[in-house]
This record gives sequence, C-alpha cells and structure tokens, in this order.
Amino acid sequence: MKDSFDREINYLRLSVTDLCNLRCRYCMPKNGICKLSHEDVLRIEELLEIVKVFESLGIQKVRLTGGEPLIRRGIIELVESIAKLEGIKDLAITTNGILLKKYAKSLKDAGLNRVNISIDTLRENKFSYITRGGKLKDVLEGIEAAKKVGLSPIKLNIVLIDGFNEDEIEDFAKITLTERIDVRFIELMPIGQVRDFAIEKFINNKIVLEKIPDLIRIPNSELHSPAVYYKIPNSKGRIGFINPISCKFCDSCNKVRVTSQGKLKLCLHSNEEIDLKTPLRQGKNLRDIICEKVKNKPLSHNLEDGTCINKNMVQIGG
Ligand code: SAM
Ligand code: SF4
Repeated sequence: MKDSFDREINYLRLSVTDLCNLRCRYCMPKNGICKLSHEDVLRIEELLEIVKVFESLGIQKVRLTGGEPLIRRGIIELVESIAKLEGIKDLAITTNGILLKKYAKSLKDAGLNRVNISIDTLRENKFSYITRGGKLKDVLEGIEAAKKVGLSPIKLNIVLIDGFNEDEIEDFAKITLTERIDVRFIELMPIGQVRDFAIEKFINNKIVLEKIPDLIRIPNSELHSPAVYYKIPNSKGRIGFINPISCKFCDSCNKVRVTSQGKLKLCLHSNEEIDLKTPLRQGKNLRDIICEKVKNKPLSHNLEDGTCINKNMVQIGG
C-alpha cells in the first residue's frame, strides 16, 4: 500500500487502550483522561479484524501500544492471534514495563518478537516524580524478565527532559557497553493538554553527542526506523536518536496508527482521524476505505511552526 508521495506503508501502530497505570507528566494530564464507555473501545476481536485488514493491504510490522498495553484485558490472546498471521513479520510492544515481570513469559510464548520499554531515569525518586507515583523497581524487574525469556532486541526509550535527566545520559549509555540492549533518546514533543511541559523542557538530542563524543555512527542502521543509531566502540548495544523536532524523518515515514477507539491516524501530529469502528461494525469493506484514505497521508508534520494536536499522547500511543 502506497501513499500519494510514493511512501510504502507497511507499519501499523495499534493502541489497545487509552488507559494507563502511570501518569507521565509529558503524556497524560494530572487528572487523567475521561474514561471511555465500553462501547466506544474496540473489542479484542475487532482489534484483530483491523490488523487482518491491514495485513491484507501489505502491513508487515505491528506494534501494540497504549496507554499501557499490558493493562488491556485479552492482550495475550491478541498477541497470539496476530502472531499467527502469515503476513505479519514483526510483532512488538511498547510498554512502561511495570507489568512486564508478570507477562514477559506469556508474551514470548504467545509469539511476541520484541519489546520497547520506556524508562526516563534510573533513580527511584525521579522515576516516581516523572510518572507521578510509579516504582522504578517494577520496570527494572520487567527488563530482567524480558531479557530472561528472550524478547529481544530490547530497546529502552528515554525521553530527554531539561533539568531532569540530562545528567543520566552517560549512565544510560553505559548500559550498552555490557548489554545487548539499544538505548534510544527521544526528543520531547508538544502534544495535547500537556504540551506546555514539552515546550518548556525540550532539549535537542545533540546533547548526547556532546556528552559522549566518541560515538560512532552506524550507517543505514534501519531504513525506515525513526531512530538513527550510533555505538560506543566495542559496545554490545547501540545508542539511538529519535529526533522528531530537530531532524524530522517524515520523508521515510512508513506508518499509520489506529487508536483504541478505532480512529485511523495518518500522522501523529495531525488532528485528522478517520473512523474505522463504525464501518467495521456495519460490516462495510474497510480495505477500500483505508486504501482511499491512506492517499491523504500528509507529507510531513509542522511542529516547527508551533502546530500541536489536541489529543494527548496517552490516547494515541506514540
Ligand atoms: N505506556 C507505554 C509506554 O510508556 O511505553 C506505551 C505508550 S507511550 C504513549 C509510547 C511512547 O511515547 C513512550 O516511549 C513515551 O515515552 C513516549 N512519549 C509519550 N509522550 C511523549 C512526548 N510528549 N514526547 C515524546 N515522547 C513521548
Ligand atoms: Fe502511560 Fe506510557 Fe504515557 Fe507514561 S508514557 S503516561 S506510561 S502511556
């Protein structure tokens, strides 16, 4: 499936819930978000049906996200069903890791290939602050559990936040010396009700290169990945940069998103959403709708002009 700029669309990010067991300050408003009614959220069978339609259109990579995907009832069954689809070559989850210790083995057994774990600090008190009450120990145990069952490669997502975690860049980078783990620094994006946090606390990812000058660029590390990868000489893991603001990667964007309410989003930073839930429940042909709409995928975001979407990141999934 191609968009009108000849970009091959082969990656679906599917949000399975907009609820979360944490409240990260850059993602979720302090008082949370309005809980949706049961009817408004796609059922597990409907999520699967949507993945099947995308598979038939050439989607090969699926990432389950949230909210927090591991709090969604039926997540293991969903993983198991998606993993059985022949066209899906890569099935991954992005999680805050809190429940990973509990679910790592079941996820692996169900056919999940790999996991990205979000962890913005290695200090307990700072973790509790940024997540509004989360326990770092749970995530560290989750990472260990993922390693143990072989959910690899493990990627750690670290959102860089001014005055909060730039003093830990070297500590995160050191993980790659001895572990086959990718550590990826993500630039803060202004999104939804908490956009001001990102505007105030943004740091350009180039700070990582300033702090670790001996990094070596890995050429063409991942063609369609938003991350550009580097390495410390002789390290086991890689260091990735996801720079949506300072160096946008829209030209090679290969993804679309579907929210837990069944809205197709062609660009994270656009307010436009296409309802798939209603036609799905009416038994209409989703293939035609998706094919037609994908042609309208915007060429690029306009964050640099101060454009910012209304929905919160927790409702989209990153
Ligand atoms: N709950 C899961 C987690 O935290 O990994 C999955 C959903 S979360 C929305 C997906 C990713 O988006 C996380 O890595 C998170 O750090 C990132 N994220 C959330 N808000 C962000 C923002 N304003 N700017 C940049 N990244 C953000
Ligand atoms: Fe929840 Fe993930 Fe958002 Fe944090 S980043 S509030 S863990 S959805």
